[in-house]
Amino acid sequence: MKHTDHEFVGDQESLRQINLSTVLTHLRQNAPISRAALAELTGLNRATITRLVRELIEHGFVRETGFQSIRAGRPSILLQLDPDAGCIIGAEIEVKFGSVILTDLAAHVLWRQEVDFGDNDEPESILNSVAQLIGQACEQARETSRHVLGLGMSLPGLVDVSSGVLLFAPNMRWSDVPVKQWLENEFDIPIYVDNKANMAALAESYFGSARDSEYVLYINITAGVGAGIVLHQRIMAGTSGLAGEVGHMTINPDGPKCNCGSRGCWETYVSALAVFRRAREAILDGEESQLAEVVRDGFERITIPLMVEAARKGDLVALNSLEETGYYLGVGLANLINTFNPKKVVLGGYVTQAHEFLLPAIQKTVQERALRWPREAADIVVATYLNDASLMGAVATVYSQILSNPNQAFKAKRGL
Ligand SMILES: [Zn+2]
Repeated sequence: MKHTDHEFVGDQESLRQINLSTVLTHLRQNAPISRAALAELTGLNRATITRLVRELIEHGFVRETGFQSIRAGRPSILLQLDPDAGCIIGAEIEVKFGSVILTDLAAHVLWRQEVDFGDNDEPESILNSVAQLIGQACEQARETSRHVLGLGMSLPGLVDVSSGVLLFAPNMRWSDVPVKQWLENEFDIPIYVDNKANMAALAESYFGSARDSEYVLYINITAGVGAGIVLHQRIMAGTSGLAGEVGHMTINPDGPKCNCGSRGCWETYVSALAVFRRAREAILDGEESQLAEVVRDGFERITIPLMVEAARKGDLVALNSLEETGYYLGVGLANLINTFNPKKVVLGGYVTQAHEFLLPAIQKTVQERALRWPREAADIVVATYLNDASLMGAVATVYSQILSNPNQAFKAKRGL
């Protein structure tokens, strides 16, 4: 096959990009590390490593941190990613509020701010108020003379990742909102938009409970249930970026009606509302509980922390509700473990705050139902980020783009 010169230059450039990305990834996982050890790990020759590291140091993404003494020969210089290479902005839009954080390249939070939307759910004005916070975050970065390398935005609904359009957010009654385009008109930085389960899954695999696991299934259990599937630290997004809607997997064809229009979906059994419904029904049936006062008028005042508090005092209604929820979580997780054969199953989201009462029933049910081999391979753990999952996920999304596409990060840093 004949290559034109242009194609050859293109090949060289993409090879350089791949090699830079490989070096950054190994530096992240193994720092502090010497050039020689990097050559050994990556399989690239010493001269190539020297050249790539020089480039990364020139752009301020890598720094030398000290010496490693070895028995023979001269000590080698150790390298690590430079946390001060730049800043990342993580943002989230939720049903009632929006939050924005600014972190350094090691994902340490430098600044954060929140805005309450009240009853307002108009896309334009909500985006405007979040954009104001993002503007403040950019200002903070400027004050520390660091460049913003990217902005990640987490959204509560179905997102078309390539176009950055929020297709559908039932709880906010939003459909077809071009969030990414809107943000790109406001801010001249690389922008990434995705749904919160995918983003939270990345946060766990880069910085949290599944750090450096190759095959991760993250389950976000809140008002709805969604999953993020991460393979080699990349989201397995599906054909149109919509993979992971595990909350709508049917576990009882004749079960209760779901918001999606189907019946017996997993989330009708394990969402926060399902937990509260169990407690309320038991109380209306006449069972005694310290939660009686709270749930009698409806669900408005009941929370997962209140249920945990009651369960810790031995309240049977709270204990049974959580145990039954754990059972149904186990049923769905057994299906997912059989389907995906993951290394780590990370449980996150609001409901997971009750993990001390959910996990025993989850483990027991998975033990009884999942096939032995995938079950033995899967480690079920609680997420590191139960509160800031979306925000840290938005940061992790930008972080993963910096590692996989360093050229764009170099440009962002030069303010191009
Ligand atoms: Zn459903």
